[in-house]
Amino acid sequence: MSKHPILVAGAGGFIGGELVKTLLAQGCSVRAVDKKPQWQWYQRFEQAENLTFNLEEKDSCIEAVNGCDVVYNLAADMGGMGFIELNKGLCMLSVLINTHLLLASRQCGARRYFYASSACVYASHKQKETNNPGLKEEDAYPADPEDGYGWEKLFSERMCRHFREDFGLETRIARFHNVYGPYGTFDGGREKAPAAICRKVIQAKKSGANEIEIWGDGQQTRSFMFIDDCIKGILLLMDSDVVEPINLGSSEMVTINQLVDIVEEIAGVKLERRYNLNAPKGVRGRSSDNTLIRQRLGWEPSVPLREGIAQTYAWIEAQMSLSNSNERVVNRF
Ligand code: NAD
Repeated sequence: MSKHPILVAGAGGFIGGELVKTLLAQGCSVRAVDKKPQWQWYQRFEQAENLTFNLEEKDSCIEAVNGCDVVYNLAADMGGMGFIELNKGLCMLSVLINTHLLLASRQCGARRYFYASSACVYASHKQKETNNPGLKEEDAYPADPEDGYGWEKLFSERMCRHFREDFGLETRIARFHNVYGPYGTFDGGREKAPAAICRKVIQAKKSGANEIEIWGDGQQTRSFMFIDDCIKGILLLMDSDVVEPINLGSSEMVTINQLVDIVEEIAGVKLERRYNLNAPKGVRGRSSDNTLIRQRLGWEPSVPLREGIAQTYAWIEAQMSLSNSNERVVNRF
């Protein structure tokens, strides 16, 4: 095991926090960095070196990377469709984080670098039907990604590739497809569909209101990956020789209506559905083709949606009963 700390950028967020937890459990030394004040981190661990830096700035990146030989970049200004459709400029500014982290990694002699990309890099015209056959890695080109957020991800992927080819930094790139689970964002405008639907069903159940608002007509399709699968995939990829961007997502595709069915069944309620056709909807159909990850890593995400949503629902329900007293629960060890 390396004596150097491992840098997790974006450690105060959903995926970064889970990664820190897993690396610490494996006995690694971890430097956790985020721009949010530490009381706002979703999970914060005393065994890690916890630092608050704005990683859009190059000097902060050098301080963060200095002494680390492995860097995980999970820092970005992002959220669900409601956020990325309305904040394209902010999403694109995350290019500064990746650019400065790559430069700092090169300058400080880091060996390996992980970049969290997204299914939003895939060409829009491949996602116009609900019966999406699963996006293959080559479907990212010719480029026609999600405006703003997707262009930033595609450009940053490309920059990772050229830092590997030109400067010998071993970069690894995963294209995450919709990650969900406990400790994810579930309110405030940046939440994604699974957490938003859990929250709305819990609110409807508590208030006795018999209805739920759904964005779009509910027929749009997606696949959702449970956080445990995401962390396992990141670590497998970082240990591998897979240098090209690779899908990290579930291939269990559902309509948004089917997702609502699952949440209602867990909650033990049946609600009237009000479809808001003017809300941000994203692409019509999206799922992950896992041929490449099966071939290259001998593994693919496998936690069934029903099982992952049950855990997520229980966690959000617990948070919401506490948030009545204005407390946000943070995992601190
Ligand atoms: P998150 O918003 O929970 O975490 C991101 C963290 O980055 C936040 O804590 C934020 O404060 C931090 N951050 C933002 N700007 C920063 C800056 N300038 N300096 C330092 N920290 C900064 O998001 P997440 O769900 O954990 O996503 C992690 C990564 O995975 C992101 O790159 C995201 O684009 C990517 N991704 C996530 C999903 C998903 O479904 N969650 C899907 C595709 C890609």
